Amino acid sequence: MDDILLRTENLGKDYRLGPQTVHALRDVSISVRRGEFVAVMGPSGSGKSTFMNLLGCLDRPTTGHYFLDGRDVSQLSRDELARTRNRKIGFVFQSFNLLPRTTALDNAALPMTYGDYPRRERRDRAREVLADVGLADRTHHVPAQLSGGQQQRVAIARALITRPALLLADEPTGAIDTRTGLEIMALFQRLNRDGLTIVLVTHEPDIAEFAQRVLHFRDGRLMDDRLAASPPLAEDVLASMPEEGGAEA
Ligand code: ADP
Ligand code: MG
Repeated sequence: MDDILLRTENLGKDYRLGPQTVHALRDVSISVRRGEFVAVMGPSGSGKSTFMNLLGCLDRPTTGHYFLDGRDVSQLSRDELARTRNRKIGFVFQSFNLLPRTTALDNAALPMTYGDYPRRERRDRAREVLADVGLADRTHHVPAQLSGGQQQRVAIARALITRPALLLADEPTGAIDTRTGLEIMALFQRLNRDGLTIVLVTHEPDIAEFAQRVLHFRDGRLMDDRLAASPPLAEDVLASMPEEGGAEA
């Protein structure tokens, strides 16, 4: 199997805005190997979300190529893109995007309801991924009965249920407190150790430091691509923090 999971070649994205053209992404060439954990940083408007939308097969580039798992997906039709996305990619967002009146179990199972899976298999697999993110005892809770961190775990379970090759996370710790953010990073690090390739957008250096590699964007360009010598373990940072409740003091 090819060691490279994704590769972009002079990738660019323009948006037409009336008479204006916005060059949201310019000339980005990059490779990510299977099993890497990459953080994407850069100021607001630097093209991070545009880059993630292209990696996630949510949108097509204006110029250049995107190879995912060995296949050029830059010019696929909308339907083919959607199929590729459902098979290969899991998404996690800042705002969790859970269905409010739906249990953790059914939220996690959602991506499988679009496939041809028997109900039994769907529920078994949803229980399995919820257990994997530490929520075995919360399967029948609806989002309002869960903390922010637990809701994000449900969203991560939902992203993992189809066993994607790539997990994309856009500011996954943006809406939760510091300790909970560290717990989410510890979970990502564990999933990554188990082989999952992760690309995560964050504007917080304290979050990016847990990745093995950090990309910096500015004005739609990739300005910096750096490997971390030995990223700290979020678990260790958590263990060295004062106990719950003392954290805010
Ligand atoms: P970031 O995620 O780093 O904040 P974005 O990728 O969202 O940046 O945006 C990059 C640039 O492209 C910005 O100048 C933004 O205003 C512009 N842009 C993003 N999406 C659109 C769109 N749908 N139409 C027009 N311009 C857009
Ligand atoms: Mg953004």
